[in-house]
Amino acid sequence: MDKFYYIYTYGCQMNVHETEKLAGILEKRDYKRAESAETADIIVFNTCCIRESAEQKILGNIGAVKPLKKKNKNLIVAVCGCMSQQKEMAANLKKKFPFIDIVFGANNVEFFGEYLDEFLKQRKFVNQVIDDKSYIENIDKINVVRDNSLYAYVNIMYGCNNFCTYCIVPYVRGREKSRKPQEIYGEVKNLLAMGYKVVTLLGQNVNSYGLDDSTDGVDFAQLLDTIANFDGDFELRFMTSHPKDLSDKLIEVMAKNDKISKSLHLPVQAGSDKVLKAMNRSYNITHYKNLIKKLRQAIPNITLSTDIIVGFPGETEQDYQATVDLVKEIKFHNAFVFMYSKRKGTIAEKMEDQVPLNVKRERIHNLLQIQHEISTKLFENMVGSTQRVLLEQENNLYYIGKVQCGKVAKISKANTKKLDLGKFYDCTIIDYKNGNLIGRVD
Ligand code: SF4
Repeated sequence: MDKFYYIYTYGCQMNVHETEKLAGILEKRDYKRAESAETADIIVFNTCCIRESAEQKILGNIGAVKPLKKKNKNLIVAVCGCMSQQKEMAANLKKKFPFIDIVFGANNVEFFGEYLDEFLKQRKFVNQVIDDKSYIENIDKINVVRDNSLYAYVNIMYGCNNFCTYCIVPYVRGREKSRKPQEIYGEVKNLLAMGYKVVTLLGQNVNSYGLDDSTDGVDFAQLLDTIANFDGDFELRFMTSHPKDLSDKLIEVMAKNDKISKSLHLPVQAGSDKVLKAMNRSYNITHYKNLIKKLRQAIPNITLSTDIIVGFPGETEQDYQATVDLVKEIKFHNAFVFMYSKRKGTIAEKMEDQVPLNVKRERIHNLLQIQHEISTKLFENMVGSTQRVLLEQENNLYYIGKVQCGKVAKISKANTKKLDLGKFYDCTIIDYKNGNLIGRVD
């Protein structure tokens, strides 16, 4: 009889990609993907702990599985990822949700198959949260079942050395460790041969690729340059970048290679030097603005996005205004704005001068509104420009795809020749309507 799995994924692209590895492990054991958790024989929660609100949502979703477990005694429930990697979390989870069968951490995804076998043999709770961060040696050998046939993620490094004071990642994911360039080249070449069109290189801080001396001297700019010279019609993206490590050499490589995306996500987090210092971001606003200037000089058509935290401990009205001013000055195409929330185990958790919730709410609301106006204007300004679009689907009226910055573009079938899904087209933007770009391919 067929067996089915369902995986809930929370958090960043790293987690999305890890879910593809979990799926690979399960499919190797003859499980098939279920349409919903209700029809699954095993449910996996691949968790995130970057924000307390995310954690609450996950706990709520785990709790909601209880009736399913009551109905089907053989249902297996597993929890993994960053949340379970935290100290004592496995025991707490089991106490709160006794129906959980397997808990493992973000550092031992590669052994999930063995944990499942162990559970099936003994039908006893398996608790395997390993603190050893050397798992990278094998995780990339896992068969990956990708969700999408055009977009693929490739890990180039794991962990983070930066210790931003609000972030738990270095504690749960460990220090930076880069993959060997040859392994990455091999994986990308395979993906291109399989027909993938957009490859995104992933790491918590991709710009420091190679600084751990495990890449035989290859740095991120070289890695990118080499891949961008591979044959084929594809686009190369990367994330996440840290402003302190983004080098002139990288800007040069981005500018000269057509295959490297001209859309960059560069988290600024705050517009005030005082707050950046308290966050331990290791750059100031002058440095950030200089980077933007260099990027725009080298790549005039670049689109930029960022992450911002409002209401960090000690953020005064003046600090917040500095963030508003920065957003207005730089004009990002997109900004992901978050309200600071305490993260247990981080330095910022213990900081005095926590900003009251109502103030944080007001600030995020205001900033989102400002950003929305800026984004709308910038996308309206794209009208008349030519954008590269990768077509992904169609309906009766439109071919639908995305431009490099991720914005949806629709091409009316009425005034365009027949187009092929899965291909790139240069498209003239003729309108911006309801949050979508409308284009034409001549
Ligand atoms: S750079 Fe900072 S925010 Fe990003 S993962 Fe590392 S510690 Fe966290």
